[in-house]
Amino acid sequence: MQLIKGAEVAEKVLTECKRDIAELAAQGRKPGLAVVLVGDDPASRAYVRSKDKKCKDLGLHSVKHELAASTTQAELLALIAQLNADPAIHGILVQSPPPKHINEAEIVLAIDPRKDVDGFHPVNVAKLALEDPSGFVPCTPLGCQRLLLDAGVETSGANVVVLGRSMIVGKPMALLLMAKGRGGDATVTVAHSRTKNLAEVTRGADIVIAAIGRPEFVRADMVRDGAVVIDVGINRVKAPGTEKGYKIVGDVAFDEVAPKCRAITPVPGGVGPMTIAMLMANTIKACKQGVGVQASA
Ligand code: NAP
Repeated sequence: MQLIKGAEVAEKVLTECKRDIAELAAQGRKPGLAVVLVGDDPASRAYVRSKDKKCKDLGLHSVKHELAASTTQAELLALIAQLNADPAIHGILVQSPPPKHINEAEIVLAIDPRKDVDGFHPVNVAKLALEDPSGFVPCTPLGCQRLLLDAGVETSGANVVVLGRSMIVGKPMALLLMAKGRGGDATVTVAHSRTKNLAEVTRGADIVIAAIGRPEFVRADMVRDGAVVIDVGINRVKAPGTEKGYKIVGDVAFDEVAPKCRAITPVPGGVGPMTIAMLMANTIKACKQGVGVQASA
């Protein structure tokens, strides 16, 4: 069984990012990312800080906007307009989920699609479906595809079951895998909460990608011998007796599934580190694609 170590692959991606940043710097260009957080959700705050830190470590221009939970829709839209117009900013990310009074769909629509490094804007969703490489693909599925490529897993002709149909993971994952070319060309089934005989469906897969948000849902009897399993899930479960009182587990019951697999990602240390690395890569891509006038490095 091959353990697909996301942290190591993420480091590779970041090394590629550093090379790109140096090349851009030689042309007097510096990619810039703006991360916007509304409210004080501790997990979101931690994500935003780690994104900001990763940018700074890499030498990207990074701007962090931490706004009060009382921020209005109009105020947030005004900030987005300002960031859209800022030539030093190539990527804009609004941390999800925002407070309930914020209309998230309207915020996503307001972001210039050329700066939408999360890949959530309808223009980028369409570009993914159209296989237009100038679009931005959501970071988590992009990271999963890179893990498969790096692990030498052949997707062409493979039967893949994607568990989950969210716009953040499941749907873009399916589109990436069914696209023509390297890392694609798979026969993709998307399963969800209404899927009948789910275990039978997943047992038919050469590759299972689990993104449902249910702790250790995928059990050994749901996976065929020799399958490749990518576990996107991040679930906090009680762990009495530990310092924190909880632990993070994936959507796959790793201990019982792993022995059957040809390759599998762990949680933590699998897909998680890839998401932030692909965000950096998307920001560099936005800069290379030349949005706006370039600020000095
Ligand atoms: P989501 O929006 O809640 O979507 C969950 C999907 O799973 C839905 O399509 C749902 O089906 C399906 N589902 C739920 N219960 C199911 C069941 N019992 N059987 C079959 N399908 C079921 O979640 P998400 O945002 O895609 O996230 C999924 C997981 O990935 C979460 O654990 C999340 O924390 C994690 N995640 C990790 C990263 C990372 O960086 N590693 C990034 C994003 C998300 P319906 O559509 O029918 O409701």
